[in-house]
Amino acid sequence: MAIERTLSIIKPDATRRNLTGKINQRFEDAGLRIVAQKRIQLTPSQAEGFYAVHKERAFFNDLCTFMTSGPVVVQVLEGEDAIAKNREVMGATNPAQADEGTIRKDFAEDIEANSVHGSDAPETAAEEIAYFFSGLELVG
Ligand code: ATP
Ligand code: MG
Repeated sequence: MAIERTLSIIKPDATRRNLTGKINQRFEDAGLRIVAQKRIQLTPSQAEGFYAVHKERAFFNDLCTFMTSGPVVVQVLEGEDAIAKNREVMGATNPAQADEGTIRKDFAEDIEANSVHGSDAPETAAEEIAYFFSGLELVG
């Protein structure tokens, strides 16, 4: 297994309920290191750009509205097998199907307001990290 980096977003439903610290604790307990982090308010065009791969999906407009409904915390997590490990810690997209002890099982409100985003592959992780961070902002 290699040391990887993945892009994580703590979504507006979670920042609204003051869950940033609790969610970060889950990452750190799983051995993931937060090597970059910032709290930002996405603009509509930034949200649309980030989710461009989903632009044909029925939920695209609602998703972009949700992602701009409040602050998000964008972060880079680093560790062994970080991409898959983060998705394990997050749980399934739909919290009703998420395993016990996962972030989405414990905190998500529904399939859209599901508290966290995590990259799904090395290529998307690299693209998504570059979307939000410059190399100088990543401090391992
Ligand atoms: P993410 O990309 O946020 O890590 P994911 O990879 O588990 O989550 P995707 O299929 O990439 O899920 O969908 C991106 C996001 O779009 C989901 O996290 C969720 O917020 C929203 N979403 C996905 N499916 C639906 C749906 N059927 N209805 C409403 N929103 C949805
Ligand atoms: Mg996804």
